[in-house]
Amino acid sequence: MTTARPGLKIEGEQREQLRRRLRELGFDEVRFARVGEEAGGGLREWLAEGMHADMAWMERTADKRAKADLVLPGVRSVIIFGVNYWSGSEAENNFAPAKPQWARYALHKDYHDTIRPGLVAAGRVLEEIAGAAVEDYRYYVDTGPVLERGWAARSGLGFRGKNAMLISKTHGNWLFLASILTRVEIAPDAPLRKSLRPADEGEPAGLLCGKCTRCLDACPTDAFSAPGVVDARRCISYQTIENKGIIPRELRAGIGARIYGCDVCLEVCPWNRFAQKGRQLLLAARYDLADLPLAEILALTPERFAEIFRRTPIMRLKFSGLLRNACVVAGNGGDISMIPALLRLVVHDSAVVRAHAVWAMQRLAGSGAAALLADARARETDDTVLAEHAAG
Ligand code: SF4
Ligand code: SF4
Repeated sequence: MTTARPGLKIEGEQREQLRRRLRELGFDEVRFARVGEEAGGGLREWLAEGMHADMAWMERTADKRAKADLVLPGVRSVIIFGVNYWSGSEAENNFAPAKPQWARYALHKDYHDTIRPGLVAAGRVLEEIAGAAVEDYRYYVDTGPVLERGWAARSGLGFRGKNAMLISKTHGNWLFLASILTRVEIAPDAPLRKSLRPADEGEPAGLLCGKCTRCLDACPTDAFSAPGVVDARRCISYQTIENKGIIPRELRAGIGARIYGCDVCLEVCPWNRFAQKGRQLLLAARYDLADLPLAEILALTPERFAEIFRRTPIMRLKFSGLLRNACVVAGNGGDISMIPALLRLVVHDSAVVRAHAVWAMQRLAGSGAAALLADARARETDDTVLAEHAAG
């Protein structure tokens, strides 16, 4: 096994110098945790219950998530970075309540792209201050095999709330997390409370939640199977972003106007009252997306989709995914002026779009839907879409 070379150690004033230099790069929080004998917390139980839905990559990376040494042999420390994306209340931002709702994080250029240069620079600083070589560290923004929320809790950056999110006492629920695993031994920061068990021992959620259950009560689709445990199969974030197929009928009404992701269990958290607007040095806002009218989204062409959403997280959804979600939002909105746009989508190339457009038509047109959908139904060959016609 590769071990840290002697001398790769940082403590005292040198550690604080490292923190200062890293914060200057645009990170709002920089904390340090020591690597121990990780066990992956409740990840294995969560996977065993199938709550990750079809996100098979989570299973594939479970061992590495549970044991940082498998990601970087000889790893000693984790540097956890927080980037605050709180931009003020909806009123301050003029987010239109009647428009489709987007998860706040999505109203930025893809944060993986904007944060990564900061991590590259952070690696250089680590090399300079600790004498580390390039192979002595690895950086990740969210998508790596790293339990970032667990490490963040262990480093005292925050605690894992009953909503399963990392909650900071100073930034609320609004932090992007990133990490550097390193062979440099860095004196660790203390967790928020001495009683906080290490992340690798499976810290129970809700350390500083007290008796609050707002997030659990507010979830529109009852996705919490227990405090701190989200069943992705019922979660709007999963269904509107990760799921590329049919959204279960019983969940569609709960999606409401949420066209991409869901912030309900974050928004209701009382810890947000301490959140300050972020410096946004490693982010690029796209708040203009929140002003897009639903009718314009329903009428998008592939070219216009690529133009509007270029370099945003929404590109992950692909064109048909956004149209699918827009159909669900239209079906929930009760605005019959959407019917002409939906009638164009019931004969769309994508069966997934057609299925949700049929559902939305049935919701908006009621007893008149069958007549309006008769032509589309006669032409339909896909069993899934035919089932939607029949279910109306
Ligand atoms: Fe429920 Fe939304 Fe939170 Fe998912 S993101 S658990 S759907 S409130
Ligand atoms: Fe904890 Fe309440 Fe925040 Fe949920 S809403 S994470 S229960 S403090």
